[in-house]
Amino acid sequence: MDDGRPTLVLGTTNGGKLRELAELLEPLGINCRSLAGEPGAVVVEETGTSFAENAALKASTQARAIGDWVLAEDSGLVVDALGGSPGVYSARFSGPAANDASNNSLLLERLAGHRAADRNAHYACHAALADSSGSIVATSAGTCAGRIAVAPSGAGGFGYDPLFVVPEYHRTFGELAPCVKAVISHRARALRAIIPAILLHLRPVRSGPPSTDAR
Ligand code: IMP
Repeated sequence: MDDGRPTLVLGTTNGGKLRELAELLEPLGINCRSLAGEPGAVVVEETGTSFAENAALKASTQARAIGDWVLAEDSGLVVDALGGSPGVYSARFSGPAANDASNNSLLLERLAGHRAADRNAHYACHAALADSSGSIVATSAGTCAGRIAVAPSGAGGFGYDPLFVVPEYHRTFGELAPCVKAVISHRARALRAIIPAILLHLRPVRSGPPSTDAR
C-alpha cells in the first residue's frame, strides 16, 4: 500500500507482541507489516545473552534477509527471587514445547512458598531498528515493575500477563484494559523512546516549494 505513510516491518511472529506494537505505531502514521507476509524472512536463533543482544540480532538478521527496514524487540520477565529467571528464556521457560500455560504453571511452581514481599519482578523490553542493509540505527529499552500473583487472573494480554500484578492498579495485566498496558508497559516505554528515530528515518521527505499558506 502506498498511501504516503512510512511502512515498517515488525520483526516478530508473536501475535500478542504484533498487536501491541501495531496499536502503538499506527496512530502515529506508521503502517506496520508482519514478517508473516515476507517470503525472505528467516528463523532467527536467539543466541544472545541479553535482551539488547537478541533485539539487535533479530532486527539486523531479518532486515538483511528481506532487504527492508525492520523494527524488532526482545522482551521477557525478570523475577528477583529466581535470580532474574526466566529472563531471555521467558518464551521457552518450560522447555522446547513451552506455551503460555506451561510457562505460567512452572513460574507458580518455582515461586511456591514465597510470600508477596518476595515475589517482585519486572518486565523488560529492548527494541532495535535496522536499515535494509542490516545496520542497527537506533535502540531503546523500557521496563515495568510488578509482582507475581499466587494464581492467574484475567484473560487479557498474553504470556505471563495473568500472573503479573501491577502494584499501582492492584490488578494483573490480564485484568487491566489494553489501553492501560499501552501506556505503562515495558514495550510501550521502549517503543515511545524509539519512535523519534523511526520517524526521522522513515518519514517520506516532501519535495516541492514551501507552503505559501500563511495564516
Ligand atoms: P521473545 O519472543 O524471545 O522476546 O520472548 C518474549 C516472551 O516473554 C514472551 O513469549 C512472553 O513469555 C514474555 N513476555 C514478553 N513481553 C510480555 C508481555 O507484555 N506480557 C506477557 N509476557 C511477555
